[in-house]
Amino acid sequence: DTPTYKGSVTFNTGLFIDGKWTDPVQGGDLIDILMYRLYTATGKVIVSIAGGTSKDVDVAVAAAERAYRTTWGLKVPGSERGRLLAKLADLIEQHADELAALEALNVGMPLLVNKYFVVPGTVSTFRYFAGWSDKIHGKTIEPSENKLAYTRHEPFGVCGAITPWNFPLGVVAAKLAPALATGNTVVLKPSEITPLTALFLADLIKEAGFPPGVVSIVNGYGHTVGDAISRHPSVMKITFTGSTLTGRKILKASADSNLKKVTLELGGKSPTIIFDDADFEQAIKWASMGVFFAAAGQTCTAGSRIYVQEGIYDRFLQAFAKVAESLAGATGNPFEAGVQHGPQISSTQLERVMGYINSGKAEGARVHSGGERIGNTGYFIKPTIFTEVTADMKIMQEEIFGPVCSIVKFKTEEEVTKWANNTTYGLAANVLTQNVSLAVRMAHNLEAGSIFVNSSQSPERQVPFGGFKQSGMGREMGQYGLDTYTQVKAVHINI
Ligand code: NAD
Repeated sequence: DTPTYKGSVTFNTGLFIDGKWTDPVQGGDLIDILMYRLYTATGKVIVSIAGGTSKDVDVAVAAAERAYRTTWGLKVPGSERGRLLAKLADLIEQHADELAALEALNVGMPLLVNKYFVVPGTVSTFRYFAGWSDKIHGKTIEPSENKLAYTRHEPFGVCGAITPWNFPLGVVAAKLAPALATGNTVVLKPSEITPLTALFLADLIKEAGFPPGVVSIVNGYGHTVGDAISRHPSVMKITFTGSTLTGRKILKASADSNLKKVTLELGGKSPTIIFDDADFEQAIKWASMGVFFAAAGQTCTAGSRIYVQEGIYDRFLQAFAKVAESLAGATGNPFEAGVQHGPQISSTQLERVMGYINSGKAEGARVHSGGERIGNTGYFIKPTIFTEVTADMKIMQEEIFGPVCSIVKFKTEEEVTKWANNTTYGLAANVLTQNVSLAVRMAHNLEAGSIFVNSSQSPERQVPFGGFKQSGMGREMGQYGLDTYTQVKAVHINI
């Protein structure tokens, strides 16, 4: 069922600070949001939005601090925070079609992915954390006969949230929902490339009844607004999703200012490991979903290194290439029927991914399928499969963030475990086998924060998500994710 959207979507293009839409205090940037990634090589501006400066961050943080101390934080019972989050989830559901269409325009991902996956997922995230709001408890501890202690999980205060351009709405929800459930206030900077659905959400936040200042949205560039949030002395926590390079900068800025608590969700180079005994059809499905699904390879958990055991290697390669070729044929405008594969987000990203494809060729890897752009207009790249790769090649070590993977033949469990772990990243790993003992051994030996057995790229909001090694710090989602938004206070009582 391919959805269509015939309506129009209205949203504000300013800064949402202290419950009101405003222009930048001084100067600021006008940021063009471009649609040319979809159709033409020359560019078409959909809309221009206001980008703020550090001055706007100061105003937003002051409002967030005021709200934290007066109308939110420990002043408001968890049940009330939960009520407002649940109301927001309902409003998102009521506006699901508009949000799905706007997100398709924002990112270029097929409308059906946004309608059936992204927007319902966003609603569920807000509902899930709404449910936690009145269940945030500490413990009682009795260290000795005449001493009683108890712990409280208190919010940090003002939390800065900085988000990327891939899955923008889902990532914003993953940060706002637990931060607000635990009583923090938030200053959000969405990606300057894809701010549209966050701007739409601002009006729903207002309509849901959150007090002014509890959520402010300051659009802008990373080096201006993002940096100002990371250095602000009154921001007590940063939650960031994006590249490892930017994660490092944010960590440094936090360390140089006030030692903010920092959660980082960063890049990946995830392996998909397929054993001879795997259900063959499922293996094809999960390996292709694992790297090409939804966002033309622009997902942090993309399984871009595929290891296939020797007994099924040839058969797998043939069948997998067929899927890649059929996806190439289903590439195009996200609003068109049958489209399953969208564009790269920007000219920079197109050049970056093509640069990796060329480096793979130059280093001696063989293009088994794809390896080129689709047409000369728009930013479409054919799903690409490399074979005859070696572990030291750039395409095997670096995050490509595009529809490109390498397939490697392996013999033994030991060698594939070693090869799979040979990366500075550790976000996710996928294992396909029908042997439970083997699956569990692999799950325990692989160095990654999420292991998907007989699936891929299927995180659930009840389960913690985050990276080993240089894929991140801290966790999002589930109770672990919730806990990263609170600090523990211990109260000691002599009896
Ligand atoms: P990016 O790091 O370029 O930008 C992310 C955000 O950081 C943007 O809002 C940007 O404006 C801001 N930023 C840039 N420089 C900054 C600075 N100096 N200080 C503060 N903020 C700054 O990432 P991107 O290209 O938007 O997103 C793609 C990356 O995100 C990939 O590496 C991908 O793997 C990663 N990602 C990770 C997850 C995860 O959950 N682990 C999820 C999605 C994306």
